[in-house]
Amino acid sequence: MPRAFITGITGQDGFHLAEFLHDKGYDVYGMVKGQNNPRAAKLQEELPFLELVPGDLADLPSLVAALQIAQPDEVYNLGAISFVALSFSQAELTANITGLGVLRMLEAIRMVGGTQNNPIRFYQASSSEMFGKVRETPQTELTPFHPRSPYGCAKVFGHDIVVNYRESYDLFACSGILFNHEGPRRGLEFVTRKVTNAAARIKLGLQHELVMGTLDAKRDWGYAGDYVKGMWMMLQQDQPDDFVLATGETQSVQDLVELSFAAVGIDDWQQYVRQDPKFYRPAEVDLLIGDPAKAKAQLGWEPEVDFSTLIHMMVENDLAIEAAKGR
Ligand code: GDP
Repeated sequence: MPRAFITGITGQDGFHLAEFLHDKGYDVYGMVKGQNNPRAAKLQEELPFLELVPGDLADLPSLVAALQIAQPDEVYNLGAISFVALSFSQAELTANITGLGVLRMLEAIRMVGGTQNNPIRFYQASSSEMFGKVRETPQTELTPFHPRSPYGCAKVFGHDIVVNYRESYDLFACSGILFNHEGPRRGLEFVTRKVTNAAARIKLGLQHELVMGTLDAKRDWGYAGDYVKGMWMMLQQDQPDDFVLATGETQSVQDLVELSFAAVGIDDWQQYVRQDPKFYRPAEVDLLIGDPAKAKAQLGWEPEVDFSTLIHMMVENDLAIEAAKGR
């Protein structure tokens, strides 16, 4: 059986990818940090097949030890400080985990898999946040980066070091430049889930207002379940390469709010939504829209869930969760 090792296993994508690889017949190892990590215990209940291994992206020896246990054919580096707003207040931590963590993982792969003909295939979770103040629209694999947050800067380093290790040491290392991808498992700090959850709670009478930052920013939002498949497809190619995964469509935060409230039968959403500068960011990414043509042509990858279906899926999930809490 092929063996996969995933960092960021307790996050949204870790869950989807672990399920996907398990269905493909992989032995799946997930790296968890910290002592008595409550998210790890919960995840183990949900995914009993998962082998959890201790490790921390800040600690190279722990990564070496984790890879020695897992002996993986494929490593998926999804672990990061991934919330853009938090990266402004914890910039050094973000640089260390989201940026240098990639370098440590590459070094660990070289130590465990060898410096010649290394058999371990590596996937790096790069991000559309690297495009930031976009230089062209839509964004492709060749669009220059102009990150707008410590998170975006750290992801640029991660991306560049993957390309550099691939070119320097002949590693099978791929970087997936994924545009925003969401789903019922998205954390409540991200705007899609914050809004779908609030719409559900307002509908159920559990909450009376939704306090937001900018409504003007535009994102290319897809479904996480579609995107993890693209990660795996990248590692099945003959040659390592970098790919944009995106829907090719863009919506504003306001579109998201309107659609979420409409999904629970509320048309006068303005009545419930207030803006507060505390949710504004020191620098904003105004517009993202990706061009997934290369992934379609070379991988045969295409997103299956469109924005409206995604938001309805998330709202239905939040209605069910919140109604159950109320009982
Ligand atoms: P990001 O694209 O990785 O930053 O994903 P987020 O889901 O955190 O934010 C997407 C966009 O929504 C950004 O432009 C935010 O500034 C905007 N936004 C507006 N209000 C909010 C809010 O209350 N929370 C979050 N997370 N984002 C918000």
